[in-house]
Amino acid sequence: MIGNINNIKILVFLLAVAIISGCISQDESSSGTPSAAPSGNASDRIKVATTIAPLGDFVKAVGGEKVEVTVVVPPGAEPHTFEPTPSLMMDVAKADLYVMNGAGLEFWMDKLLEANKGMVVVDSSQGVALLQERKGEIDPHIWISLRNAAVQVNNICSGLIAVDPANKDYYIKNRYDYLQKLQSLDEELNQTFAGKKSRIFIVHHPAWTYFARDYDLSQVPLMENEKEPGPKYLGEIIDLARKNNITTIFVEPEYNPKAAEVIAREMNAGIVTLDPLAENYLETMAYAGREIAKSLA
Ligand SMILES: [Zn+2]
Repeated sequence: MIGNINNIKILVFLLAVAIISGCISQDESSSGTPSAAPSGNASDRIKVATTIAPLGDFVKAVGGEKVEVTVVVPPGAEPHTFEPTPSLMMDVAKADLYVMNGAGLEFWMDKLLEANKGMVVVDSSQGVALLQERKGEIDPHIWISLRNAAVQVNNICSGLIAVDPANKDYYIKNRYDYLQKLQSLDEELNQTFAGKKSRIFIVHHPAWTYFARDYDLSQVPLMENEKEPGPKYLGEIIDLARKNNITTIFVEPEYNPKAAEVIAREMNAGIVTLDPLAENYLETMAYAGREIAKSLA
């Protein structure tokens, strides 16, 4: 019985995200006629460019051997400030499909489109409920939420079908498999966090807004208005950490950990590195979820 209920829940979840993103298309009747699958020769693969590695991982999950993925922001670079050079722009503009994160992350997108006005572009944030980072500023870290990721995966699936309709069934099947993995990790984390009394975690840069929303947590950033914190703000964080028995500070590899080290020393707390820009999305999110949960009383 419980298994059935879970299956129904998964199905409802998948349908909901598919409908939001429009990945379920009008002619579902075509499922009876399997399309001939072309071989995965490198030359006839669909060239997909995307902004950050997690989105590249989504594209690979749905596109499988039919796609060749290029990620614009290199490992270790900071996507909020990284701007592709003109020659990288020219290169990226040769792709068949560009997958944007959206939500304001690609502030250089107009320049890229100038280099190739005909390129198919998918805004993966379509249908994601956006949150504000600060007053009037949209928080771009949408992919750091398994639920948002499901919407993004659907948008990517629609984009791949638009440029390569012959392999529609293949993309839809892969999408379904990946959405199930997202859903099952989401349920696992939901249960993990449900039992926690304490809900506050300290991070260096406030990338975890959507993640915190999903599990009813609250992130406290060490950065003060996107800059390294001043002594007054640091003092407030230390007080808050003491009051809430916080013994872990989460940092990201792109940022200088100095402020985190100051607090950690003061608090006798540990530092744990989370990397929301890592390539292997599911593993990264599972690790982050478990580490954040471990840090909560
Ligand atoms: Zn960020």
